[in-house]
Amino acid sequence: MMHRARKRFGQNFLQDSGVIYSIIALINPSTNMHVIEIGPGLGALTRPLLTNLEHLDLLEIDRDLVAYWIQENLSGLNVIEGDALTFDFLEWAKSRPENSGLCKVVGNLPYNISSPLLFHLVSAAHVIDEQVFMLQAEVVERMVSKAGGSEFSRLTVMMQARYDMELVLEVPPEAFDPKPKVNSAVVRMIPRKDFNLNSAQWAALEKVVAAAFSQRRKMLRTNLAAYSERLSLTESELKARAQDISVERYIEWAKTIAA
Ligand code: SAM
Repeated sequence: MMHRARKRFGQNFLQDSGVIYSIIALINPSTNMHVIEIGPGLGALTRPLLTNLEHLDLLEIDRDLVAYWIQENLSGLNVIEGDALTFDFLEWAKSRPENSGLCKVVGNLPYNISSPLLFHLVSAAHVIDEQVFMLQAEVVERMVSKAGGSEFSRLTVMMQARYDMELVLEVPPEAFDPKPKVNSAVVRMIPRKDFNLNSAQWAALEKVVAAAFSQRRKMLRTNLAAYSERLSLTESELKARAQDISVERYIEWAKTIAA
């Protein structure tokens, strides 16, 4: 099909068959899996996925591409026109047929919405088994970074509090048409088995992490001043910066604040 890539929808279509093969192998589709692909585009991932799945849901915002997939009328394919940022992934996950296998959300994501989308998906993390996404490499590096490094950020803490994550594959611009300006990477995200925050504790985590990172260069003595009575920060924590504190310590603080 003739389709001019739309910048505003972050359309960079995957061309490299080696990369496509690696992503499909990673998703490891099997007949009764419950899978939704965000942004199928022209189907680089969609078609190979469909050869191994009985059923595949597609979520696409571009009307022309939605029309294309509807007209293709492929067996097992369910096309949803919608915006991934507002789509109800919780409802979708709950709609899985009985006896279905793992529940997965996958996609080569539009880079302009990756961070809000990752946060949006957290609300369904308890019913999703795995997420496999292609993102801007810089974002994936932040997601998997360790405390102490300059990439360690609010996104790092919130994602590592909820998921075990792995950067699986780095992908150069040449793998796409049109070529993006940045490098890409594939990340696999599996909700943490030991996750035990209730919604008040999660909200507290969001707040304390946002406060800690509000001024990256300032010490926590300043950034967390509003919490100083409830959190007993050690002398070295008071002098530390937000990126020096471990994810597990932020989680402890969130539990204390919400108690
Ligand atoms: N999966 C295809 C591939 O690998 O070649 C296309 C990937 S392209 C980077 C991103 C896709 O996401 C496009 O099809 C685009 O129209 C779609 N998209 C952009 N914003 C979206 C949104 N908010 N919700 C759902 N799909 C979106």
